[in-house]
This record gives sequence, C-alpha cells and structure tokens, in this order.
Amino acid sequence: MTGQRDSRHDVLFEPVRIGPLTTRNRFWQVPHCTGMGYRHPRSEARHRGIKAEGGWGVVSTQETEIHPTSDITPANEARLWSDADIPALRLVTDAIHEHGSLAAIQLVHNGLHSANRYSRAIPLAPSHAVLDCDDPVQARGMDTADIRAFREWHRAAARRAREAGFDIIYAYAGHDMSLLQHFLLARHNHRTDEYGGSLVNRIRLFREVIEDTREAIGDTCALAVRMAVDELMGPDGLQHDAEARDIIEALADLPDVWDVNLSGWSNDSQTARFSDEGFQEKYTAFVKSVTSKPVVGVGRYTTPDAMVRAIRSGHLDFIGAARPSIADPFLPSKIERGEVDDIRECIGCNICVSGDNTCVPMRCTQNPTIGEEWRRGWHPEIIPSLETPESCLIIGGGPAGLEAARAARQRAMDVTLAEASSIWGGRVTREAGLPGLATWARVRDWRLWRLQNMPNTELYLKSPLTAEDVLDYGIAHVCIATGAKWRRDGVGRVHRRPLDFPDPDRVLTPDDILLHGPSAIKTSGPVVIFDDDRFYMGGLIAEQLARAGHDVAIVTPAATVSPWSEHTLEHDRIQRRLIELGVGIVPLHQIDRMDDGTLSLACIYTGRTRTVPCATLVSVTSRLPDDGLWSDLVTRREDWADAGLKSVNRIGDCLAPGLIAVAVQSGHAWARHVDLPEEPLPLREDIAALS
Ligand code: ADP
Ligand code: SF4
Repeated sequence: MTGQRDSRHDVLFEPVRIGPLTTRNRFWQVPHCTGMGYRHPRSEARHRGIKAEGGWGVVSTQETEIHPTSDITPANEARLWSDADIPALRLVTDAIHEHGSLAAIQLVHNGLHSANRYSRAIPLAPSHAVLDCDDPVQARGMDTADIRAFREWHRAAARRAREAGFDIIYAYAGHDMSLLQHFLLARHNHRTDEYGGSLVNRIRLFREVIEDTREAIGDTCALAVRMAVDELMGPDGLQHDAEARDIIEALADLPDVWDVNLSGWSNDSQTARFSDEGFQEKYTAFVKSVTSKPVVGVGRYTTPDAMVRAIRSGHLDFIGAARPSIADPFLPSKIERGEVDDIRECIGCNICVSGDNTCVPMRCTQNPTIGEEWRRGWHPEIIPSLETPESCLIIGGGPAGLEAARAARQRAMDVTLAEASSIWGGRVTREAGLPGLATWARVRDWRLWRLQNMPNTELYLKSPLTAEDVLDYGIAHVCIATGAKWRRDGVGRVHRRPLDFPDPDRVLTPDDILLHGPSAIKTSGPVVIFDDDRFYMGGLIAEQLARAGHDVAIVTPAATVSPWSEHTLEHDRIQRRLIELGVGIVPLHQIDRMDDGTLSLACIYTGRTRTVPCATLVSVTSRLPDDGLWSDLVTRREDWADAGLKSVNRIGDCLAPGLIAVAVQSGHAWARHVDLPEEPLPLREDIAALS
C-alpha cells in the first residue's frame, strides 16, 4: 500500500460536466438491482450510501417503476407510483449526498415485461403481444390515449424523482425490459400509426419522453439516457452498426449523458465464464463518435489500467460499474489512495444477480457485507476491534477459513491458520481450474494477500490437524472450516437413499475430476454425468470432459441442464455450449441401475426405463461435510476448558455445504461475532416500519 495515487490513474479522478452538474470523478455506479428495492428502503439507502462513501462519483438506484401498469412483483425494484413513494427514495438520496456524490434514478415502464401480478393492471405494449415471461397473460397494444397517459406518468415520475432529491434522471430503453425499447424494436412494434413502421416513427415516443423528462426536471437536474446498442441476435434485434447507431445519431445531443450497454440482461451481465473485462467495448465504442455528450459504459472493469485505457482511447467518459461496485464498494477510493492491490475484484459469478432473480437482498461471493449494511450494520471496510483481543486457530484454508482469518485479524485477533494440503483456497482453487472459472481464484488471492500483509498472522500449509493437536495448542477460539466432499453414492434430490453401484471403481465424483482433471477417467468409453445438483458443476464437468475428447452425455432429473443457472443468467449459454460441444442431454431421468457398460435410466414421471451406454459415471448430486475433526472435538468437550479453549465453531461447507458466497459469509460472520454468546438476529424492516 502506498497511500498515494499512481499518476497514470489521475484521469479517472477528473471532474466531468453533465448538463448543469459536475461529477467529482469518472466512477459511475450504473443502475443495478439489489433485491432490496421498495420493500427494504433502509437497506437500499445504506447500501447506496456506502457506495458514495467508497468514492463512486455517481450512484444510481435500481430501475424504478413509474406506474402500477409496470409492476414486476415479486421482483423488488424501486417504485415511484405516487407521492407516497418519495420518502423511501429520499432516504437513498440523503445517504448518497452525505458523501458528496450525485444520486441518479432510472425510471422505467416495463411494458410487455411486466405481468402486473400485484396491481392486476392489464400490461401495456406497442402492439398486442404475449408477455416475455411465462405468465399466461397478454399485453394490450396501446392506443394514442394510452401513449398520452404513459407520457404523463413518466413526467410525473420525473418530477417526483426531483422532489426525492435525485440529481440525474434517466429515461431508459434497455434490457428488453422497457416500453421505450419495445417501441424502438420492429419485432415488438407492429404499429401502423405515427409510432410504428419506419425508424423515425419507432423513435418518436423515445424522443418525446426524453423531451418531456427534460421539461419535468428543469434546469437543476441532469438528464441521462440509457440505451442498449446491441442485442446479440443479429438483424432481428438492435445492432451497434445498424439501427442502434441511427437511433443514437438521431437523438445525439438531446440528453446530457448517454449510458450505453448490451441487451438483454444476460448479455449485459455476462459472467466471467463467457466474457472478459471490457467485453462490451466493441459494441459501445462508436457512441462517442456520434454525440458530443459524455458516455458511460460497463464491462466488469476492475483494473484501473483497463479503465484508463477505456477513457484515453476515447471510448468512454465514465467507467460504469454494477458488479465491480458490489464486490468492492471502495474500488474508487482504493485507486485514489494508490491501494490498487487491495481491490476486491469481482469474479464475475453473478451470485449477486441470483439475489434479485429470487427476489431477496443480493449476496456477493467476494463481499460478504453486501445486503447486510443496514440490517446487520456491516461495513465493507471496517470491523471494530475486539476490546480484549484474543487468539484464534482456524483450521482449513478454503474460502470460509481464509475469510474467517482475514476478518479475525481485522478485529486485532492473533490468527493461526492451518491447512492440510499444500495449497491455499480449498474448493475455490480446485474450481478455478474448470473452463472459464480462472477469475474465481480471486476469492483466495485477495484474502491471502491481505493475510500475508498483516502482523500476528501465522499461516501453515501441509498441516492436517487432529483434535489432539487442537487441544494441545490450547488457542482460545477455534474455528473449523474443513469443507465438504462430493458424495459417491448418488444421494441428492431424487435419490434420497444411497444407490447400489456394482462396480464403484467406475463411479467418480466432481472431487475426482477437480483433483485429476480428465485423466481421472480410467476406462475408455462413454462418460455419463448424472447431474442432480442442478447448478454449474455438472455442466462444467461435461464441458471439460467433452473438450478433452470424451464422449459425454449429461443425465438430469431436471427439465434442462443446470436449471439454477437461470438465476445467474448463464442458462442459455451453458445449454448452447454443451450442444455445440456435442454433449448428449437426457433430461427428466433418474438412475434405475448401473450395469456393465450401460446405465439404465427411469423417467421421473412414468418410471419407464431406457438404457444409455456408460463406461464411467460421474455422480454430481450433493456433498457431505468433512466434519470428522469437529466430531472428535465434540466428544472431548469436557477437555476444552482445561485446554484453554473458549469457543469451538464450524463454518462454511463443514457446517453445511453450499455456495462459495455462503462459505465466505459464514467465515465473516464468525469473526464478527466471535466474542458474543450467539449470533445476533438481523434487523427486519417489515417490523421496523410498524414500530
Ligand atoms: P469452505 O468452502 O467451507 O471454505 P473448502 O472445502 O473449500 O471449504 O476448504 C476446506 C479446507 O480445509 C480444504 O482446503 C482442506 O484441505 C482443509 N482441511 C480439511 N481438514 C483439515 C484438517 N483436519 N486440518 C487442516 N485443514 C483441513
Ligand atoms: Fe461479482 Fe460475483 Fe460479487 Fe456479483 S456476486 S459482484 S459477480 S463477485
């Protein structure tokens, strides 16, 4: 840590004029969902306030529904349906202004993306259309009275946004989730009046709403326009070198700032498995050449050199970020202080996105404090020291153990961390070797870097500890983070009892593949992956083995491969990749029995059986905690006090196998609460609102 900014990064800290306002730097936290929305306004406000504290010059809300005809319940976005919504948003702007940043709000009408399950309003669209979700609901094609009404709702929402204290107000046409974009797109807009047909007509409503918004917000707020410049679907959608360019040219200088990206959300928020830092540049780079207004763009930027390049090359004026600001809300101030190595870089896993997609406050693999800022009072950079620091012994150097050690040291505890193997990182190191997951090693690297730079920290590899060792050391607080192992017996969601495999040597688990790669397969012939885990592991092993030349099929009781990856926006890409690699896919089947060279499968609905060739079975079902050390210590509980032990706890996968994000949070929570008899309950906003 140098404490002084690298002069090469100075350009990132230049103020930029946008309309009547000036930003304090070029860091722009673009609108992103948090799952906190209108139902958790204090959580939302604290979350955004911390971003401002961390140095983001502009901090935006998530998309904000302007009217009950744009109701995407049960999703939990922001709302400005009426004046009653203003106080909740005032909390947000106050929190942002407290740290000298500008507050931005993205107004949205979701058009044919909103089923209006709560409001029960009939959805609206440019033309009669079925919704883009699974609800058996159609949207009504808007007539001119509807268009007039929509413009008035947008104007009213813009006025309310100004009253709530926002500095920058967005008109939004992106992600295939916005009525304004639906009007732009020929595939959604089949109108024959002045709002449909030619591009000039399809742009009309967008232009009118931009002008309306300008009028509504007056001359003290800036007007931002967020627009998708490519949908990655060829001529059926917007393309950066075709209509999208024409639209931006036509509206070039109407807004004060352009915020441009890819559409839909799965293209915009691609995971690291499918894209690299700066992946949007080739689509958005043209925008600055057709407008005189500043341009914001995203691309999972986490390294200041890439950010500087994007500015210096004339591609962007602002570094837009959602995920990098979640993984490290203090990213700008770390660059400003010259503490670049301390940036907790986003790994591009989209666990944050899964929070919004499952309608709960988001969590983050890298940043365990996200979503906990208000309800647990967790700050991403500060953990109060213990009044009387004590020593701790953490056993297991995976994500849970590393985070526990790092956070305990931040509390001024003397830390001893023991890891049985010869490498740090546990499962995260192993999984980072799977195709496209190299960035996941950042979970290990950031924590290890921190630990290696802290005093009173002892790190031991090749140190498998026993209960006897732990009692001999007599260190006050013991934290067991020994992880978990994949089951070999097929037990998972459909098979709740162990399966009888006649030749266990032909049954592998993900651990075998993670440790040895494709060479774990000893038998020639087809490999069947039985995936009842249903997230990323089965699909990734299929990809790895297919790339290594194996004949691979994936069998799953689910209807598709890796269905939970819908929540991380990866599902379609995973499916496409496996099909392209020639992986056979057998959905809706469980295992009937394994024979010599074949696997008999049973349909989950009818029980009807079929047979697939199978020389090796990789069983991806569930995991069991590696908790032998814990059990041994529990049987010697009466010796703890004499040995000097004050607390012994399990964390992470050793307590219950789960996401890496859960393991990291569990390590963090252990360190935060090590001095308390039990973990405090988080605050609840629903109750707080009534009291
Ligand atoms: P988590 O996700 O909970 O951090 P991991 O499986 O990633 O779990 O990491 C657990 C780590 O604990 C592994 O690296 C493993 O080698 C280590 N470990 C397991 N048993 C012991 C032990 N008895 N002593 C020290 N380290 C252990
Ligand atoms: Fe990045 Fe993953 Fe955190 Fe999201 S959850 S911000 S993708 S590290």
